[in-house]
Formats: sequence, C-alpha cells, structure tokens
Amino acid sequence: MALMGALHRQLGWLVVLLAVITISTGFVKLLSELQEREGRARRLVDSNIIGVFIWGPGGRIIDANEAFLSIVGYGRDDLVSSRLRWKELTPAEWGDADDRHAAALKAIGTAQPYEKELFHKNGNRVPVLVGAANFEKRGDEGVAFVIDLTDRKRAEAAVRESELRYREAQMELAHANRIATTGHLSASIAHEISQPIAAVIASSKAASRWLDRQPPNLEEVRQSLGDIEKSGTRAGKVIDRIRALVKKAPPQKDRLEVNEVVLEVVGLTRNEMAKNCILVRTQLAEILPAIRGDRVQLQQVVLNLVINAVDAMSGMSEGVRELLISTAKTDLEGVLVAVRDSGPGLAPEGLERLFEAFYTTKPGGLGMGLSICRSIIEAHQGRLWASANVPRGAVFQFTVPASPDTGS
Ligand code: ADP
Repeated sequence: MALMGALHRQLGWLVVLLAVITISTGFVKLLSELQEREGRARRLVDSNIIGVFIWGPGGRIIDANEAFLSIVGYGRDDLVSSRLRWKELTPAEWGDADDRHAAALKAIGTAQPYEKELFHKNGNRVPVLVGAANFEKRGDEGVAFVIDLTDRKRAEAAVRESELRYREAQMELAHANRIATTGHLSASIAHEISQPIAAVIASSKAASRWLDRQPPNLEEVRQSLGDIEKSGTRAGKVIDRIRALVKKAPPQKDRLEVNEVVLEVVGLTRNEMAKNCILVRTQLAEILPAIRGDRVQLQQVVLNLVINAVDAMSGMSEGVRELLISTAKTDLEGVLVAVRDSGPGLAPEGLERLFEAFYTTKPGGLGMGLSICRSIIEAHQGRLWASANVPRGAVFQFTVPASPDTGS
C-alpha cells in the first residue's frame, strides 16, 4: 500500500510536470509567434523605405523610424525630448485636409492616403503622401506612414515644363509657317487690297463729277460716298486678316462659323487661283453647328490645304484645274471641311508620310505645312486626313467637333 501511495504521489508530480511542460511549450510557441509577428512589423519600420511614426495624445510624435526623421530633418533626440508635434509640422493651409482625415480616423479607425506638405526643420516644405490608422483600444494613439513625394513632384514639374516648351515651339513653328504662307501670297494680297483702293479712287472721282454738275446731284454724291465707305471697309478687313495671320498670339477658344473661315481664305487666295487658271467652287452647308477654336489657326489650315492644291495643279500641262471647298455636318454633330483638287493626286502608299515633318516633294518645300495643320486640328479635338479624289486629284478633309454650347 505504501508503495502504491508513493507511486500515486510520483504520478501526481508527473502530471503536474507534464501540465507545466505543456503550458510552457504553448507559451513559448505563443511567445515565438508574437516575436515573429513583431519582427515582421519591425522589418517594415526599420527598412526605412517609407516613413513610419507612432503618435500619442495631442498629436505628439512618440516614436518614428529614420526615414520619417530624415523627411522632416529632425533627429532622435528631438523625439526623446517630445518636441515633435504633427500640427506644428503642418503648414497652416493643410490644416483643413488634416481635420477631414482626423474625422475619418475617429469614425472608422483609418485615414485613406492623402497628399499634403510638411515643414522640414530647415523651413522648406516637403510634399508627402500620408495614411494613418488608430490603435484599436486607444483612439488618441495610432500609426501613420509618410512617403516623400519630392522626386515625383519634381518629375511632374519637369514633364509639365517640357510640355509647355513643346507647345511653345509648336506655336513658333505655326507662326513661322503663317508668315511664310502670307509671304507666298503677297502678290495676291496686294491685289486684294489694291482692288478696293482703286474702287475708292473711282468713286471719289465720280463724286467730284456729280458735285461739279449745275445744280450738283447730291443724291449721286451720297451714293458715291457710300461706295467709298464700303470699299474702304473691304480693304480694312483684308488688312486686319493679314495682320491677324502675321501676329503671334496665344491660341483662342472663340465661337466660330466654319463657313466664314473658309470664305475668308477664299477671299485671300482668289487672285492666286486666277493667276494659276484654277476654277474655285465652294459648297457650303447652310446649317452648320458653330465650333469653338482659334480663327487664325483654322484659317491657316484651310490656307495651307488650298495652297498645296494650287501647287499640285499648277504643274499640270493639261486637264481642268478645279478646286472645290465644301463644308458639311458630320454624324457626330461636328463640322467637316473638304478641300478637293483635280491635280496629279497622291501615291496611296505614302498617305501618312505626307503628315510627317520635313516630308516634301517640292524643290523649295519645307515639308512642315501638313504636320502643322494636323497638330492644329488635333489641338481642336478633330482629325485631318488625305485620300484620293474622284475622278482624279487629292482630297484633304478635317473635322472639328461642334461647340458644346451650340444651339443648332
Ligand atoms: P510642303 O508644301 O512644304 O511640301 P506640306 O507638308 O504642306 O509641305 O506637304 C507635304 C507634301 O505633301 C508635298 O510636298 C506634296 O508632295 C504632298 N501634297 C500635299 N498636298 C497635296 C495635293 N493637294 N496634291 C498632291 N500632293 C500633295
């Protein structure tokens, strides 16, 4: 019995020992799991790929990794002395954004990442992306990550700058092309102006003759004066159009009637056509939606297409030289302009090459006209393309969307 009692006592100890071993093994396992988990979180913090900090009551920054300290330019001693507070690191105008995200933090426990600026210790501002989460039980404590956006912002600014420079260069080019085109047309333009001036002289002579009559015929004088005014206005309009073509001005977004743009170009090139024995016809749609764009730039496109057609036809030794400019409404509520000629036409395999910069088949050509025209039309959200005309020649067409506020 004594032996049995001793055995029981021994077994009792064994059970206790086993229980202790089991509990402590579980505890060790739990401990090692916790350590592993903490190790992973620590790895994220210590890798210093992004800034991480822990805040406490009043927005005081309690702990932070090196990445965060280097973003704001402070040292670990500043942390220890509790000098870092979120509010003081934030420029005043970002206070509202912070308040909005703090409200979300309070309501749902997380603040979605948002962009803001922080003050660096040296007073500079640092653009950053910030996101945060509360600690579960304590609403006034949490962890936040901060990513320095300085490089990205710098790269974005560089892209914006180079886009701006590209647009400026395009405008310079378009302007140079307008000057060259206007120069090309100088004889025709001179004729366009000299015609109304000649009419002014003729009407004023007529007025003098009516005045010399006995008695003077004042009604006829008034008529002649009216003619003088009309001719003067006509000459003035031609000069205004030339001035607008030659002037360098930033692109406009005016409400325009495409038919007017076409008619203005026809007016400027009338004499050029006559000189080259070209018959010009226009087929303008009566009801067209207005468009929004730059009058001078669109004139420049039509002018380039017309001059190209004239160049193509002026080399023809036989056949009728015809130019047809038409306008129409497109299916998508836009406007279509087509310039058709009866010239030698285009090689089908080279249709897209025509629009490449410096592509030219003309001895003195620059090859910039069509590429400038395409970039102008694309800047108006339209399309410009070339195809064969029937029965012969080439047709260049472009579309421009209707102005959003158009009534028709
Ligand atoms: P450039 O007029 O200086 O040659 P463009 O870019 O205006 O430059 O035109 C490029 C080329 O497209 C011209 O050299 C010509 O070969 C061709 N082209 C343009 N318009 C016509 C046309 N209406 N008919 C035939 N070829 C054309």
